[in-house]
Amino acid sequence: MHRKIIHVDMDAFYASIEIRDNPDLRGLPVVVGGKPSQRGVVAAASYEARKYGIRSAMPCSRAYRLCPQAVFIPPQFTKYREVSRELHDVFHEYTDLVEALALDEAWLDVTENKMEEPSATRVAEQIKSQIYETVRLTCSAGVSYNKFLAKIATEENKPNGLFVIPPNHAHDYLMRMSVRKIPSVGKVTSQKLEGLGIRWGQELYDQSEGFLVDHFGKLGHVLYDRVRGVDNRPVKPDREHKSISVETTFLKDMQYGNEMVKELQDLVERLWKRTQTKSLYGRTVTIKVKFKNFQQITRNVSNDEPYYDAPHLFQTCREKLHTICFQDFPNTPIRLIGVGLSNLSEGQPKYVQLELF
Ligand SMILES: [Mg+2]
Repeated sequence: MHRKIIHVDMDAFYASIEIRDNPDLRGLPVVVGGKPSQRGVVAAASYEARKYGIRSAMPCSRAYRLCPQAVFIPPQFTKYREVSRELHDVFHEYTDLVEALALDEAWLDVTENKMEEPSATRVAEQIKSQIYETVRLTCSAGVSYNKFLAKIATEENKPNGLFVIPPNHAHDYLMRMSVRKIPSVGKVTSQKLEGLGIRWGQELYDQSEGFLVDHFGKLGHVLYDRVRGVDNRPVKPDREHKSISVETTFLKDMQYGNEMVKELQDLVERLWKRTQTKSLYGRTVTIKVKFKNFQQITRNVSNDEPYYDAPHLFQTCREKLHTICFQDFPNTPIRLIGVGLSNLSEGQPKYVQLELF
């Protein structure tokens, strides 16, 4: 039994957010980082900027020499963290086994997932399109049976790519891969490997474990394993992210109207009771809609504060469902709706509970 791991990495994350928020920047070389006159390094470079050789972690002064007409923007990490939180809300709709590597990068174990979708590739496709719908940014994803292969798969098709390394292709892939792609191989190790005549996977594969340990110590074991496609590290969830959700499938497909609003009301009531029995209050509401053709979408609304009263929660759900039915997917028959609360915290409500219905 193989695990199913997805690695997601946003494309030129900080730069893409700045371009999204200021369309005048579209098509221009954009560098997020300090001013060229100051010391400081490039935090992110748009793909246009990369054409000039600008890369992350390069001194801004050097980036300026490479492309004086580039637009330099100071980083706004508060904003990037907020987008990152939205990304994680999306990830957690699929699985709670999410491990962040950076604000814009994470591993997901989708062996078991909330969509009950057996194909990890399909899950990755859904996550990619949902991320785009949610934050209007593209990402790349790698799919494989462990963290190492999923991460290198992501690099294959950037930007906005998806690459899968299935178990039966891993060996061939690894033999043809440059050893520099192994994430634990930095500059020093890659030079040392090259000095030993090891540049390609096959050349690494041909070495004994003893030889590799002699030259690289503990890292030797890692190299020996990785080139064999072995990586047993589990995805360590870094957020205790509980969510509670309820859903209902209609007896026959329905369009938005009084009947559907009544169904929504019942759902919100059920959801509210379930969270109340656990003294949990959620900050993020998720509306799930499955259409007649089985296409499924979810929409999140995050509040600064948890929802402390049921009417507020119901109002949010109704507005969102209304938008889905009238703006996003007009005249599309619906077979199922669901509501969920996440970003849960325990506690007492700040103000008196109102009776819902
Ligand atoms: Mg990235």
